[in-house]
Order: sequence, then C-alpha cells, then structure tokens
Amino acid sequence: MLKWRPIVGLGAALMILGAVGCRPRPVPTRPTGTVRVLCATYPVWLMTRSVTDGRSSVQTERLFAADLGCAHEHVMAPQDARRLASADVLIVNGLGLDDYASAAYRRVRPNGTIIVASRDVDRSLHRGGSSARQTSANPHLFASPWRYAAMARSVAASLGRYDPGGAAMYQRNARSLARRLEGLGDDFRTKLASMPNRRIITDHDVFDYLADDAGIEVAAVVRADPESDPGPSELIEIVRRAQRLHPAALFVEPGSGSRLGQTIAAEIGIPLAILDPVVQGPEDPEPDYYERAMRRNLRTLVHVLGRSGKP
Ligand SMILES: [Zn+2]
Repeated sequence: MLKWRPIVGLGAALMILGAVGCRPRPVPTRPTGTVRVLCATYPVWLMTRSVTDGRSSVQTERLFAADLGCAHEHVMAPQDARRLASADVLIVNGLGLDDYASAAYRRVRPNGTIIVASRDVDRSLHRGGSSARQTSANPHLFASPWRYAAMARSVAASLGRYDPGGAAMYQRNARSLARRLEGLGDDFRTKLASMPNRRIITDHDVFDYLADDAGIEVAAVVRADPESDPGPSELIEIVRRAQRLHPAALFVEPGSGSRLGQTIAAEIGIPLAILDPVVQGPEDPEPDYYERAMRRNLRTLVHVLGRSGKP
C-alpha cells in the first residue's frame, strides 16, 4: 500500500508548514469551467457542501470514506492520491489534524490551492499531555457550533477569492449557516447553565472547544493520544484524577472507545453516554445533519448532567 508520511525530513516539514498556514499562501484567482473542491475531513466537507450549495460549476467531494472518523494519522491509499491529483482546491481542517492530506496534495498537485478552514478561527485551546506533539493547538474546532460557524465564514471568504463569480453566493450561504449554528451554540450555553454538575470526562480532546464555549469543563480525557489507548499507569492516573474531581459522566464517541469507557466509568461509578462530534456520518446526509447531531448531543447532555449531583 502506498504510504504518505507527513514528515519525512526537514525539507518536507518546511513544505508542509508553508502549505498549512505558518506562511499563508495567497489564494490565486481563477477559474473557468468546473471546479473540483476536495475536503479532507467529514465536518469540513459537510460545511463546504452548504457553503457551495447552488453553485453548479463547483463539485464538492470528500477525500476519504464517510466513516474514517477523527484520523489524526492516516495511511493514504492510491485512490486517495488519484482524487487529490484531480482536485483544483483542497480544503483541510488544519492545525495538524490532516497534514498528511496537505502534504500528499502538494506532492501530486504542486500548484493546487489549499484552503485551511481553521485559519481565521480562534484556536486558543491547546492539547493536553506531556509530549511535544500534544502541546500544539487543539484542532477540533468543528465540534463547537460557534467555531464551526467561523470556519464556514472563513471557507466562504477563501473560496470567494478563488472563484470570484461565486463569492456572493458563498457569503450568503455561509451567513445563513453561521446564523443557525450560532443560535444552536447559544442553546447549549443557555440550557447547560443550570446543570448541577458541568464537569465531564471525554474519550479524546475532541469536545474541548464545545465545552469551553458552552460553559462545561472537561476534567480529563481517556486518550491523550487519540491514536492509541492509555497504558496501565495512565489509566490509574485518569481514574484517580476523576475520583478527585467528581465528574458527572464519561462521554464516548459513536463506535469508539466504549469498552474502555465502560471500564473507567464503572470504576469511577459514573454514567457512560455518547456524544457525537460529527467526525463521521452517512455517505449522503441531509443538509442539516450536523445541526441534528448537535441537538441530539445537547439533549444527551441535559439528560445526563441534569440527573447528576453537585460535584
Ligand atoms: Zn481528534
């Protein structure tokens, strides 16, 4: 299987930094004919699909399968490289989440345009853990409706610079989406404000921005490194920390970490429930799929936290 590594040496590392934002590349103005826009993550694709809705000259597609999940590392397959080679624009989440896609795109399409969806968004939260890799900015902006709204506005602006003929449409679509998302975010804040215990544990740090924006606290994460389970000593530390802080519940993502989560939740004596960060979903979801999933998350949080005692 063809393997694309994001960092294979200093030259490649500098190329990646140039591609994903340390030295922002000017977005060139083009195009004529059909524009192929490829999105590196599921949430970026969902949002870009809404932003480009009605622009018939734009084809918005996903780079990966809909069930890839929150892939901080990924081995690229030959069909991924073929999709990248035929894309005029690659839209990535950025902040290290999908650098492998940017690096691969640069290899197969050196003059292609990369749009970093997180570029203009407040990304002030950093990843926990002790390794150097985990002191970087937390990339999971999309799991907070407010920051997802900001990503939509940013992508619309960048796409509008690339394709000026569609700029007004992109802005209009992004404004409409962002208004709905910000209203949804306000509902989180309002409804969770009265919960007796707003302290939670999550599987990995995917909900940090949502928690921060909604006024709840992530007291611990089970997997500091999302690509691997914690070792025995880390597990003991998580359990001890949780017992000290009295969280209301442990939340896992659909289809991941539930067995480990069950063990930890049982050890601490707290409920286990599912929150969906919308990092994956159906192949062809409804336009409001993200909003529905987030409203389900809000109902779950109200239900679970509402039954908790004070910490
Ligand atoms: Zn993640």
